[in-house]
Amino acid sequence: MKQVEAGGYEIVHNSDSTDAGTVIINTCGFINDAKQESIDTILGHVRAKQRGDIRDLFVMGCLAERYMDELRNEIPEVSRYFGVNNMNDILSELGLRRRDDLLGDRTITGPGHYAYLKVSEGCDRTCAFCAIPLIRGKCISRTLEEILAEAETLERKGVKELILVAQDLSWYGLDIYRKQALPELVLKLLESTNFEWIRLHYLYPANFPAELIPVIRDNPRVCKYIDIPVQHITDTMLGLMKRSHKRQDTEKLLNTLRKEIPGAVIRTTLIAGHPGETETEYGLLRDFVSSFRFDRLGVFAYSHEEDTYSFLNYNDDIPEDTKQSRVAELMEIQQGISAELNGSYVGKTLKVLIDRRDGEFLVGRTEYDSPEVDQEVLIPVSSGLTPGLFYYIRITKAEEFDLYGVPA
Ligand code: SF4
Repeated sequence: MKQVEAGGYEIVHNSDSTDAGTVIINTCGFINDAKQESIDTILGHVRAKQRGDIRDLFVMGCLAERYMDELRNEIPEVSRYFGVNNMNDILSELGLRRRDDLLGDRTITGPGHYAYLKVSEGCDRTCAFCAIPLIRGKCISRTLEEILAEAETLERKGVKELILVAQDLSWYGLDIYRKQALPELVLKLLESTNFEWIRLHYLYPANFPAELIPVIRDNPRVCKYIDIPVQHITDTMLGLMKRSHKRQDTEKLLNTLRKEIPGAVIRTTLIAGHPGETETEYGLLRDFVSSFRFDRLGVFAYSHEEDTYSFLNYNDDIPEDTKQSRVAELMEIQQGISAELNGSYVGKTLKVLIDRRDGEFLVGRTEYDSPEVDQEVLIPVSSGLTPGLFYYIRITKAEEFDLYGVPA
């Protein structure tokens, strides 16, 4: 986007807007819901192109990479499809040439006070259900220098919360440095930048880098937020999912994190309804959710994705309504847990970053919550607080998935 802007284009980042000479749709394609959303967005813009509102309609990203031939046949109205590695072709199509002097510069599409920084692309793990390595290939880490340079650019643009992302952050560095380099990366970021919050997203539970524990524990600027997708808990299911951790290792790691990093919240994601998840296996997962009491939880219904190991080797044997009812039941259990945990915040004062205004409220987050996926803190607009800044907020009321407060 930076390259396109530098070439003289004005970019409007709005997936509902169909009022533009050229529209580029960046797609997601790893599970059914994401694919459907991408296709609906493409079809909406095809209609706009047919009405003459759009001249050129380009589609890029994971869905295009994964289903290029099918899309060309089924939706030929799209002017051109690009996969995940064709950035230069997109520039050529727009009549531009890549400018190397802009590498590392970014156009931030969010509110500007937080930004994501991708430290690697692709994944070397072989989870049976997952299409991401098929689309993105094996892990390619960016160098420490490249990441630090981009982080410094983001800081200069006013970013206050840096969110490091990768398919698997704990793998970072193994390909280029032959070691897990995430702890070193975070320490270097702490040294060379002044982000108030650095947040880490997606740490695979096996081979968790032990040196990361003191980095999170001892540095107040690293969010006490550990996002560790365990996907399931029984050895049978973890085996069918071809995960490289077992129940005992997983519980040991989670308990160590709770003990060694006091006050940290632990977020996980789970898959309900993977092939082979009998009532017994599901019951064990439900018991685990009740007893471990994750601070944050996301649950996905299993999606049978072409060419994955699960697709090629198992029948999608759990009916869709059973998958959905398992998702709903797990989230209902979590709702109770979350209500209790949130209740304990009432009367306390928390540091909150205000994200936006929404009706009568200013909406913010604590270090324990990530944008879009976690809960928020709602503060009356009359408080006059400014989005993009940090404040101390006294929590006055708690709901299952939200907190309410006033300036302390
Ligand atoms: S670690 Fe994550 S991205 Fe990699 S294969 Fe497993 S689920 Fe997919």
